[in-house]
Amino acid sequence: MSAEPVVLVTGAGRGLGRAIGEVFQAHGYRVVASDYDATLLRDRDGVDGYTTAQLDVTDAESIAGVARFIAAEYGRLDVVVNNAGIIRRAPAKDFSEADWNAVIATNLNSPFFLMQAVGKWWIETGKSKAPENSRLKLVNIASLLSFQGGITVPAYAASKHGIAGVTKALSNEWAKERINVNAIAPGYIATENTKALREDPVRNKAILDRIPEGRWGAAEDIAGGCVFLASGDSDYLNGAVLNIDGGWLGR
Ligand code: NDP
Repeated sequence: MSAEPVVLVTGAGRGLGRAIGEVFQAHGYRVVASDYDATLLRDRDGVDGYTTAQLDVTDAESIAGVARFIAAEYGRLDVVVNNAGIIRRAPAKDFSEADWNAVIATNLNSPFFLMQAVGKWWIETGKSKAPENSRLKLVNIASLLSFQGGITVPAYAASKHGIAGVTKALSNEWAKERINVNAIAPGYIATENTKALREDPVRNKAILDRIPEGRWGAAEDIAGGCVFLASGDSDYLNGAVLNIDGGWLGR
């Protein structure tokens, strides 16, 4: 069995997922960093404490396979961060069925089925072999649009409201199994995803004017929250959606 705790991060090739993997590594975890496009992780191959894996979170067989692989290879899986996500923008009257289905499949269905696979493994096998009182920590990356509707992103808002609900639903069932299910709602974070907004002077100013902290969030701000939700310091936290947004939602 791996001496270090093992964390699986999805969508770890870039953006928040990459930072989440790196910060977990700095905290002494073995990181299984996965992405749809494994070439994004090439520079992490062979890095101490890292295992890279190709994983399309919308592919049910791959999800079952990666959970099995980790259990066989390391004998333990301590944390899963459901980070992979996509966004599609169009006015509601023109929003295509294909875009709707892709967003719901990636942002809502996939985290549920990955948690189902890992939760089943933990309840049936992992928990009895794990050190006494250890826990499985499941962390979902939600959004401010778990609370707000956004503009021209109806499927994204639906998926992120949905993942907040699933977080609570699984938490209700699994707290007694020593599984903590929580989520983080990141505010406006400077990643590739938000580059266009930051480069638009009007939108950039409007966003910054509303954030009490007065700056875009950094990917590391979110990664720090994930490490907290993975740690023993959050053992009594269940079904929470933690806003890390520089104060946006309180405004
Ligand atoms: P990025 O687009 O920068 O990164 C997302 C990563 O997920 C990419 O590496 C992408 O791979 C991967 N991915 C997409 N689809 C799949 C799939 N089917 N299987 C596996 N990997 C996949 O996004 P962010 O880092 O900005 O966002 C990460 C998460 O944080 C998302 O859930 C997003 O909704 C959420 N979030 C982000 C905010 C922000 O301000 N940036 C704010 C609130 C929430 P590829 O490049 O190959 O497509």
